[in-house]
Amino acid sequence: MSKFSHFTANRLSELYQKNECTQKQVLDCMEKCISERDTDARKINAYVPGRERRPVHRKADKNSPLWGVPIAIKDNICVESFETTCASKILKNFTAPYNATVIEKLLDVGAVVYGHTNMDEFAFGSSCETSCYGPTRNPRDPERVPGGSSGGSAAAVADHTAIAALGSDTGGSIRQPAAFCGIVGIKPTYGRVSRYGLVAFASSLDQIGPLTKDVRDSAMILRTIAGYDPKDSTSANMPVPDYTASLGKSIKGLKIGRPKEYFEAGLSAEIAQSIEESMKALRSLGAEIVDVSLPHTQYSVNVYYIVAPSEASSNLARFDGVRYGHRTKAANSLLEMFEKSRGEGFGAEAKRRIILGTYSLSSGYYDAYYLKAMKVRTLIKNDFDEAFKKVDAILTPTAPTGAFKIGEKSTNPLEMYLSDIFTISANLAGVPAISIPCGITKGNLPLGLQFLGKPFEEETLFKLSYAFEQETGWHKKLGNAN
Ligand code: GLN
Repeated sequence: MSKFSHFTANRLSELYQKNECTQKQVLDCMEKCISERDTDARKINAYVPGRERRPVHRKADKNSPLWGVPIAIKDNICVESFETTCASKILKNFTAPYNATVIEKLLDVGAVVYGHTNMDEFAFGSSCETSCYGPTRNPRDPERVPGGSSGGSAAAVADHTAIAALGSDTGGSIRQPAAFCGIVGIKPTYGRVSRYGLVAFASSLDQIGPLTKDVRDSAMILRTIAGYDPKDSTSANMPVPDYTASLGKSIKGLKIGRPKEYFEAGLSAEIAQSIEESMKALRSLGAEIVDVSLPHTQYSVNVYYIVAPSEASSNLARFDGVRYGHRTKAANSLLEMFEKSRGEGFGAEAKRRIILGTYSLSSGYYDAYYLKAMKVRTLIKNDFDEAFKKVDAILTPTAPTGAFKIGEKSTNPLEMYLSDIFTISANLAGVPAISIPCGITKGNLPLGLQFLGKPFEEETLFKLSYAFEQETGWHKKLGNAN
């Protein structure tokens, strides 16, 4: 019976169409796997612990491809009547009063929304260690982190306790955990997917996207959740193509840029080699690899760590002990109530970001930090515009290393921030980017390859990724897809 949990959404859908399984069988199987694997001695902790897991679904056309497919949801995406806490003490006991638009869209096609997954507090992190529920572990090596901040979503998919999951990506939080766990994760173009009901971290960078066992599932889910939403003023009014239609098409003649700046930063030999081999596979499929330059890459991490905390400090001002979640029991005045509620409710990384962001937005420093960072952000975006005049997509590693050990970087925030060095630019520029498995280290850790695309050309990313996946078979070698 446990075999259902090892299937992709696409395979499950085929079984439903042929009446070879029922939704109840699938859900029972998922529940059994979670209770066996997520809470056993290995304690992957992919789902938020101690929280009820209620499958939520509504009547829908049984022929739609996600009908009956259980999908896990990151704990910062509102699911009506579910506790939605962003893995923060400050939101404990906060029950979402409405569904995020992505949840409505999944329910409309009959998908089963299934449990909240663990994450770094408010999505601040690259390792899933800043959660108030304790760290999630990497199912490929439980001594190691699953990546972050959507680490619970990635771990659940890699551990077969979810068929697929939703995450959010502000600077790499879908792609880096996908790489660390050996699965597929896409950050769509900014504005492609509604942010309504996603608890905001940095509103100009955040996007929701799927984490899946293979490229086809990624295309299926993105197609479902994408599209204009009048409830999100930054959502783009652009048609959403049927991404699955691009799968299997030839990539002959496609031009893929290799940005030289990404390969100068002292890549580990194993990563450099896996990228070399990936380029070989792409060439054998008829793609052309050309050198491009993104000269302002070196400033990405610096710019991000001004812009993202600035927006976060503003967004998190709403958690004040009055409107949501935790309120201190020990205050004698209104000001003390604000201070103590926030002091008790936020973890160390959240406080660090609020302080950093408030500082760079304050009147004496705004021009020197925030304004300057915004100007450099434009230069980074211009680099992509230039590069995309020459190429259809850009290729980079997803992360500078494989999954690191739990505790290895948690005492050194700067080192942790550098683990996003390859993913951050896509958010600053607003372009779409996907991570797909491309190798395994000697220590048996998966590695990810990242493709970045032109705005709203996710189709090209899916076409390329699918061709690469079928040619190299990494999704099968990693045991993702039966
Ligand atoms: N790791 C990055 C950060 O800590 C990105 C997080 C994210 O994408 N949510 O900000």
